[in-house]
Amino acid sequence: MKEYNSTTDILILGGGIAGCIAAISLVKDYNVTLLDKQLEPVDRIGESLAPAAQRILKELNLLENESDAVKQSIFRNNLGMQSYWGSNQLQIVDHMRNPDGFSKNLNRKNFEHYLRTVATERGVNCIWGTRLFTSSYEDNYWKIITKSDNVKNRITHTIYTKFVIDATGKQSHFAKSLGIKRLQYDNLISCWMSLPNTQENTMSTIISDELGWWYSSVTPNNQRIVAFQTDTDLVNRNTFKHLDTFLPFAKEYKLIQPLIESNKANIKFHGTTSANSTRLEQVAGKQWIALGDAALSFDPLSSQGMFNAMANAMQVQKLLRNFNFIEDLDSEKLEQFNAVYNHQINQVWNHYIQHKNFFYTTETRWKDAPFWKRRQNNI
Ligand SMILES: Cc1cc2nc3c(=O)[nH]c(=O)nc-3n(C[C@H](O)[C@H](O)[C@H](O)COP(=O)(O)OP(=O)(O)OC[C@H]3O[C@@H](n4cnc5c(N)ncnc54)[C@H](O)[C@@H]3O)c2cc1C
Repeated sequence: MKEYNSTTDILILGGGIAGCIAAISLVKDYNVTLLDKQLEPVDRIGESLAPAAQRILKELNLLENESDAVKQSIFRNNLGMQSYWGSNQLQIVDHMRNPDGFSKNLNRKNFEHYLRTVATERGVNCIWGTRLFTSSYEDNYWKIITKSDNVKNRITHTIYTKFVIDATGKQSHFAKSLGIKRLQYDNLISCWMSLPNTQENTMSTIISDELGWWYSSVTPNNQRIVAFQTDTDLVNRNTFKHLDTFLPFAKEYKLIQPLIESNKANIKFHGTTSANSTRLEQVAGKQWIALGDAALSFDPLSSQGMFNAMANAMQVQKLLRNFNFIEDLDSEKLEQFNAVYNHQINQVWNHYIQHKNFFYTTETRWKDAPFWKRRQNNI
């Protein structure tokens, strides 16, 4: 068993997109420690990066100057979105005239790997494979203890920090450990699989149905993601447990069937993940904030979760620089910082809810079906 002690200005819990972008933007001004429970990024769903994210990548000098080989392993440009939503007629929204360019379809694992590498290269103190264990507050410092999962050869880190950023995703482990509630607005889940793409048309696709909606997109190295979103109680649970049960369900859909038909042998089934809209009741407190999905998590219909995580991280960096309370703790500045941050998060949430309600209410073909009925201005 090994034990390490360290002190840092800012400790970021969670090295996903929110945590990495926050670390990369903050390390110019502060001593930053970033940690994640995973030794390496893992496969996860969520690949469409909104065009506006381009501005953040540019501001942080990310991706632009990398070789074509690196870029191609991380993203491919997505010409736009085609949808069967609200009617059987195909609708296309392209990004041809978007001043920020195309949306990018990411290989999430490679993108997160890249962000972790950049964070390390730019001087962030990174610790991978360790998870939050306990936290306590004394003398203006948070004392955070983290432990690795390997019980036989367990490594313990004790980190003293002036500021904690909870970027642990929807789990919001730090905030939850302080007793802060997470509000859940629906029970949306997503069941997904990936397979080699065989179609010429690689636009992302959304198809609504009585029980929920499908989406499909193509990521680097020509992999296709196919996912179905519904509520936990609307489909027999066994359907989403194995490929053997999910595949027959998927093949019932005539627009999904061609995407999978010729490739059955190469399908990787990833199972089910929660995809509901949730938010923390409190997103900032005594020398801590929640960031990205830890603060607010969006319905995947929005395709905005990653962009929000990045934009949110940049907001935090600017606010910390403006209020400048980390070196000399000043409770008044801290209070003002929390109030502004809270306000910004509320604005993002209100905006998100308006959009979400708008898009769900444009589908009126199954008004009385539970999935759609629940989404007629339900928040
Ligand atoms: C079905 C689905 C489809 C989606 N599609 C899209 C899309 O197309 N476009 C889009 O922009 N967004 C999409 N999203 C949303 C997007 O994936 C999230 O918004 C994004 O991952 C949020 O990033 P994050 O860094 O805040 O959280 P996360 O990505 O969840 O990262 C949290 C990190 O914290 C680590 N962690 C957790 N607990 C601990 C702990 N106790 N100690 C240490 N580390 C910990 C985790 O290992 C992880 O690395 C989708 C989501 C779902 C569910």
